[in-house]
Amino acid sequence: MLPPMTAIQSLLLAEFGPEQALVSEAALTAYECDGFTIHKQRPLAVLLPENSEEVQKAIRILQREKVPFLARGAGTCLSGGPTAILPSVVIETARMKRILEVHADDLLAVVQPGVVNSELSRHVAHLGLHYAPDPSSQAVCTIGGNVAENSGGPHCFKYGMTTDHILGLQVVLPDGEIAQFGSSCGPRAHEFDLTGLFTGSEGTFGITTEITVRLSPNPESILTLLAAFSSMDAACESVEEIVAAGMIPAALEILDQGTIRAVEASVYRAGYPQEAAAVLLVELDGPADQLAQESNEIRSIFAGNSALEVEEALDQEARARLWRGRKGAFGAMGRLKPDLYVLDGVVPRTQLVGTLRQIAAIAKKYELTLTNVFHAGDGNLHPNISYDGRDAEETRRVVAAGHEILETCINAGGSITGEHGVGSEKLDHMKLMFEEADLQVMERVRMVFNPEELCNPGKVIPERSACSEVARWPQMAERIRKAELEADEGRLSN
Ligand SMILES: Cc1cc2nc3c(=O)[nH]c(=O)nc-3n(C[C@H](O)[C@H](O)[C@H](O)COP(=O)(O)OP(=O)(O)OC[C@H]3O[C@@H](n4cnc5c(N)ncnc54)[C@H](O)[C@@H]3O)c2cc1C
Repeated sequence: MLPPMTAIQSLLLAEFGPEQALVSEAALTAYECDGFTIHKQRPLAVLLPENSEEVQKAIRILQREKVPFLARGAGTCLSGGPTAILPSVVIETARMKRILEVHADDLLAVVQPGVVNSELSRHVAHLGLHYAPDPSSQAVCTIGGNVAENSGGPHCFKYGMTTDHILGLQVVLPDGEIAQFGSSCGPRAHEFDLTGLFTGSEGTFGITTEITVRLSPNPESILTLLAAFSSMDAACESVEEIVAAGMIPAALEILDQGTIRAVEASVYRAGYPQEAAAVLLVELDGPADQLAQESNEIRSIFAGNSALEVEEALDQEARARLWRGRKGAFGAMGRLKPDLYVLDGVVPRTQLVGTLRQIAAIAKKYELTLTNVFHAGDGNLHPNISYDGRDAEETRRVVAAGHEILETCINAGGSITGEHGVGSEKLDHMKLMFEEADLQVMERVRMVFNPEELCNPGKVIPERSACSEVARWPQMAERIRKAELEADEGRLSN
């Protein structure tokens, strides 16, 4: 027998109709988590608006009924961002996927938030332009989600994160007002940089409904190299030396042996040498003569670090092949175990070697399968723990190891997140990084936009420093704290 419909479900169905309001258990199951599958919470309903006015209508109803709500793009977030903590209504932007304007001469476009990242570059390719931020999930993730997370990607080492490419935003605030931040020229005269403030606020300040993005001219030429090494240290040292020599490649990405082998066994097969302990993917772009000179310098750095082999992509097909392995690496992990916990710590580039050794020791201690694929130029690590979420004991070890890895990154002078956000995943880690006073300032800023905390409640700022009375994310917190407690007990008894 079907469960009875709740009052809010009936109301939303009456207001939006069955085409735009999903309430069945089967439909809602698809929305119970994002890429951080440890945190699950099925929403009360899912709304599918098509424009700013429909988002405004939804928020006004939910605000009146005091029902929490949150935006969702493609659900590829890896920190629980679009997964509710409190029972909430999801406002999904899948039907807001129109590219509204392109101004090639002004190098900008105006898009709805549900536009898929790579679709925008495809749309403007004939103009010799592209949209630079390129998360590895770019074939599915949305620009609205990228803005919320201030997403990065392989080419962000040279070109900057999402925030460097956003000129203006139209947003529906949690009280239902529509506000415009920035413009086609960026901040308007004497305006606070509210576009910058909103970017990276993880969907806790309101819902973006239109985005003005900066477009970039395609480079004159591109040169892609893949070097294989017999040790991870040699790959990391090459990265350090390339940057120290004054070069700024468009991308500097490392994959370890576990990742290489998973990729080579998958549909993302790229021809990476499987005996290598690590491969380093370097992409250079700019004038052809400069690339030739930099390529020579980089090849001598590789030789100095005893590279096993170096491949240069000689055409677009070879370049696409080398990138296919990197961009498909997380997907390929599905071959190792049913679940994947992708961590996102950052360390200074000079700390890469030592930190990776400590991470390997943590994985060994907890008897876990851990692989690494990361944005080496930025020191942005992605230790990936493959596990089986149906095994409670293994999940406990995964959570405990993840906590230790992020602590290690902080101790190395780094951060708990480079690009995936805090969401629900790293609430506890925030206290390791920030003083109480810092968290209070963040909380006060959030209160300006979201005073009743109806918009994506419980995210980013841990409970202890909150001014509001919201009862936080009971399931997830309890699960992680219990696991940590057990891990502590384990450590004490060892
Ligand atoms: C295989 C894989 C590879 C990845 N690689 C990268 C990478 O290289 N770099 C990187 O930075 N990330 C990466 N990610 C993480 C993820 O893709 C990014 O965080 C992405 O920006 C999320 O976009 P989305 O559309 O899926 O948003 P969602 O996951 O749906 O939502 C993410 C957050 O944005 C909020 N949000 C969504 N739309 C709006 C809106 N219109 N207004 C306000 N808030 C909104 C949500 O509430 C949520 O808090 C990867 C993920 C996967 C699965």
